[in-house]
Amino acid sequence: MRVIVLGSGTSHGVPMIGCECSVCTSTNPRNRRTRPSIVVQSNGRTVLVDAAPELRMQSLAVGLNQVHAVLITHTHADHIFGLDDIRRFNDLIGEEIPVYGDEGALADIQRIFRYVFIETPPAGGKPQLNLRPLTFKFELFGMDIHSFTVMHGSLPIQAFRFNRFAYVTDVSEIPPDSMKQLKGLDLLILDAVRPDPHPTHFGLYQALDVIAMLAPKRALLTHLSHHFDHDATNAALPPGVELAYDGQIIDLE
Ligand SMILES: [Zn+2]
Ligand SMILES: [Zn+2]
Ligand SMILES: [Zn+2]
Repeated sequence: MRVIVLGSGTSHGVPMIGCECSVCTSTNPRNRRTRPSIVVQSNGRTVLVDAAPELRMQSLAVGLNQVHAVLITHTHADHIFGLDDIRRFNDLIGEEIPVYGDEGALADIQRIFRYVFIETPPAGGKPQLNLRPLTFKFELFGMDIHSFTVMHGSLPIQAFRFNRFAYVTDVSEIPPDSMKQLKGLDLLILDAVRPDPHPTHFGLYQALDVIAMLAPKRALLTHLSHHFDHDATNAALPPGVELAYDGQIIDLE
């Protein structure tokens, strides 16, 4: 199983428009962060988690030329505004693509991307999205996937576990039942938006506390703002914990 971090940035992206801080003006490519998304590849199939506004550029950057399914954590703009780019993957695989989300997410997608689901004049191209409600446990391309709820401020959203890897973005609280789904991980990718606490995201120290409790073999932090310089932050993090970066590839058993 392979995980590729397509985007590791917060909703503004890094650099942030009009910001001249040392991270936004840094020449280190690891301080350039597009909006948050990953792919998980297994048995020659690719699952995209969220469709960031930069999906096209992210795909070009890592040579991604196939997507076979999409999982949606929630429908904030930084997580779904790339869904139109799925049409290119429809063409490449010659099939409609299943998009899994909770009921609220699927309703939002039908409203926000209304043109996709109504009859329109036959010109241009529309993504062919087959909306499917999430169930707690399902199998996709030989992977056991669990979806479970975490709190993003007052909004319940979805986190996902694939075998011994889990992706938990946009989280400010993990309910006890969901903590149980996160035991025994080889890799955890977890939200840490900035050093200080935040109303709808983990700050760095909350994320580190959760990582210490769950003790995954390796943890990567994502949804990162311009408050984190990649190299300086990594040098100060505990062993086994690093900032994720755009284009990062992690191979797992
Ligand atoms: Zn977000
Ligand atoms: Zn900045
Ligand atoms: Zn969000």
